[in-house]
Amino acid sequence: MSASEAPRFLCDAMLGKLCKWLRIAGFDSAYLSHSVPVQLVDRARREGRIILTRNTKLLARENLPAHLFISDDRWEAQLVEVAGAFGLDLVAEAFARCLACNVNLEPIESRAEVEAVVPEYVYRRVVSFHGCPACGKVFWSGTHLGRMEQRLRAVAERVAKIAEKGGGPGSEE
Ligand SMILES: [Zn+2]
Repeated sequence: MSASEAPRFLCDAMLGKLCKWLRIAGFDSAYLSHSVPVQLVDRARREGRIILTRNTKLLARENLPAHLFISDDRWEAQLVEVAGAFGLDLVAEAFARCLACNVNLEPIESRAEVEAVVPEYVYRRVVSFHGCPACGKVFWSGTHLGRMEQRLRAVAERVAKIAEKGGGPGSEE
């Protein structure tokens, strides 16, 4: 499933890192840093988001909207759980979203627009730029993405391996 037709998520306070990595993978993922259950539930309903939670007390609530209980406390394994449960493609639309604002980046039509805001060596070397419509930050693909991309690909490989074996999203290889 690609990010544009994918479910949207709402992460509880214990899942900040998972939220960041879902955004890196291109998925619409919101985060409540001081989440009390009623706020999580209200926001999930209002915005049509699936709750991702580590909070077992939340699970006991009646009429809980769509949710997934995350059993592991490491972000890599958590991402495997979410990708497995919802059939997410973690690499297809990676790096298409502003990590700070959780909105899709937009291509910048004219390179001249960014000449004043990016370093000169970047402007000379990079062909195309993207901008965040919310915070205005300018992005370009560069070597700083290399390590993040490797880590994301490693998680995607774990997801693929589990899918091959027909195991559940929480099973270990
Ligand atoms: Zn932004």
